[in-house]
Amino acid sequence: MFSTMQDVPLTVARILSHGATINGRATVTTWTETGPEVRTFAEVGARAAQLAYALRDELDITPDRLVASLMWNNADHLEAYLAVPAMGSVLHTLNLRLPAAQLAFIINHAADHAIIVSGSVLPLLAGVLPHLAPTLRHIVVSGPGDRSLLAGFAGTVHDYEELIAGRPTDYPWQEELDERSPAMICYTSGTTGDPKGVVYSHRSVYLHCLQVNSAATFGLTSRDIALPVVPMFHVGAWGIPHAAFMSGASLLMPDRFLQPKPLATMIEQIRPTVSAAVPTIWNGLLDELDRPTDRQAPYDTSSLRQVVIGGSACPPALMRGFQERHGIRVVHAWGMTETSPLGTYGLVPSGLSEEEEWAYRVTQGVFPASVQARLSGPGGERMPHDGVSAGELEVRGPWIAGAYYGGADREPERPEDKFTEDGWLRTGDVGVITPDGFLTLTDRAKDVIKSGGEWISSVELENQLMAHPEVAEAAVVAVPDEKWGERPLAAVVLRSGATVDLRGLRVFLAERVASWQLPERWALVESVPKTSVGKFDKKVIRAAYAAEELT
Ligand code: ADP
Repeated sequence: MFSTMQDVPLTVARILSHGATINGRATVTTWTETGPEVRTFAEVGARAAQLAYALRDELDITPDRLVASLMWNNADHLEAYLAVPAMGSVLHTLNLRLPAAQLAFIINHAADHAIIVSGSVLPLLAGVLPHLAPTLRHIVVSGPGDRSLLAGFAGTVHDYEELIAGRPTDYPWQEELDERSPAMICYTSGTTGDPKGVVYSHRSVYLHCLQVNSAATFGLTSRDIALPVVPMFHVGAWGIPHAAFMSGASLLMPDRFLQPKPLATMIEQIRPTVSAAVPTIWNGLLDELDRPTDRQAPYDTSSLRQVVIGGSACPPALMRGFQERHGIRVVHAWGMTETSPLGTYGLVPSGLSEEEEWAYRVTQGVFPASVQARLSGPGGERMPHDGVSAGELEVRGPWIAGAYYGGADREPERPEDKFTEDGWLRTGDVGVITPDGFLTLTDRAKDVIKSGGEWISSVELENQLMAHPEVAEAAVVAVPDEKWGERPLAAVVLRSGATVDLRGLRVFLAERVASWQLPERWALVESVPKTSVGKFDKKVIRAAYAAEELT
C-alpha cells in the first residue's frame, strides 16, 4: 500500500513566497540611530528577489558557492536570510563578536565566496582580511560605514543598495529543490572547543519554523510583533526570522542597539509581543526596568506576552523579577547550535497552583514530539526519566544535527564524543528528565565541579547566589584542589551601592546549599567575562583563577 498524499518539498523558497504575498502587510522595523525604519514583507520579498538576481548575475553565486552574512539583526539581513537559501545557495551566518582569527578560520573552512557585511562592522572585517583565503571574491556593504577600510581586499567591494537597484522584483525561487539540500550553515560559538559547522537543510528549517510557530512554543501569528534580541548569527536568531515570515508576525529588529536603555525604549515604542535572548541581556534589561536611567516614569512593557530565555541557565530570580515587578512572563528554553536550536520549551501543564507552576517554570522545559531525548549514565547505561537520575542528555530529531560540516568536498564529521554509534547527538549537558518529559540541567559536563567523588552543580550555586538582591551576576567554576581534585570558586559582581561582603554572601549561601558544596574561594569582580554570544565564559574564568588562594 502507498500513501496517497502529495510529496511537496519543504523549502525556504516556500516560506519566502508565502511571506511576501499572503503576509505581505506584515512589517520589519529596524531600529536605527535616527529612528525606526519600516519595510513590509512584500517589500522585503521584492528586495530579496533583487538581491538574488545580483548574487546570481554579478557575484556568480551558484548552489555550491556560499554567501556569508556578518550583520546585525536588521531588514537587509532578513533579505539575505530569505534570498540566499531560496535561490538554492547556502547562507553562512558569521558571528560578529568572534576574534578575527576565529572568524578567518570559519570563513576559510566554509570557503565563503561572498560576504554581506553591515557597514558598522567593517573595522572587524578589515582585521580579518589579511588571514583570508582567496576563495572570498566579493564583499557587499550594507548601510553606512567606512569602505576605505577594505582597501586591501583583492576581490570586489559592492554597495548593497547600488547592487540591487533596478533589478527585477520577482525571481524564480527554488520551490521544488530537494528539501534535504543545505540552506544555512552556522558554526558553534566554540564555548567548549573549536567551532564546528552545522548545516541546516531546507526541511529542517521548515519543520523548525512550524515548531516555533506552534502554540506550544513561541506561538507566532499575524497578531504578533517579535523582537529577536538574540543575534541572527546565533543559531538563526532561534528560528524567529523565518518563522515570522511564515506566520506573518511582524518583526522588530534591534540592529546594534542591544543595550538595556535602547531595548527598553524600543519595547515601549514599537510594542513587541514576544522576545528572545540569553540571560545576560535580560539581566541588564531588568535592571533598566527596575531603575530607569534619565527618566522618572517606569517603562511601558505591557505589550510583551512572553519573553524567552535560553542559551544558558536562566536564574529563577531573574524570572521572578520580571514576573513580580513588571508582569512579564519569562519562558525558559533549552537548545544548541546543533539543535536548530529548539530542544525544550517551558510550557507548563494546566491546573497547577502558583508554586507548583514555578517548580515547572524553572526547569529547562519539555521536549516536543519531534525531539526525542534520553540520558546516558557514566558507563553509557540508560538512566530512567524519574526526575532524579542524572546523565548526559542525548537527543534525536528532524532538526537535530547528525554530523558536522567537514569542509568542501569532504565527508561530514561524526566525532565519537559528539555522536553516538546509533546517530544520537551527545549534547554535553548533564541533567534529569521527569516522567512527563521536563528537563532540568544541572550543568555542562565540562563545567560540573568534581569534588572528591561528588558532583557539584555550578548552575545551582550561581542561581542561589543570584537570588541575593545585591548580587548582579555570579559565575561558579571548578578550580584544582590538592585534597578534593576540584573545588568551586565563586566570582561575584555586586550591584552598585551593595552593602553585603563576600563573608556575608558565604553565610547567605550556607543557608541554602549543603556545606560540602560551599565554595571556599571567592572573588569580587567588576564583570563576569562573556563569550561571543553573551554566556559566562567559564574557560576564561577558570584560567584566571586556577591558582587562586582562599579568601
Ligand atoms: P556554544 O556551545 O558554543 O555555547 P550554543 O549556543 O550552541 O553554543 O550553546 C549550547 C549550549 O548552551 C547547550 O549545550 C547548553 O549547555 C547551553 N544552554 C542552552 N540553553 C540553556 C538553558 N536554558 N539552560 C542551561 N544551559 C543552556
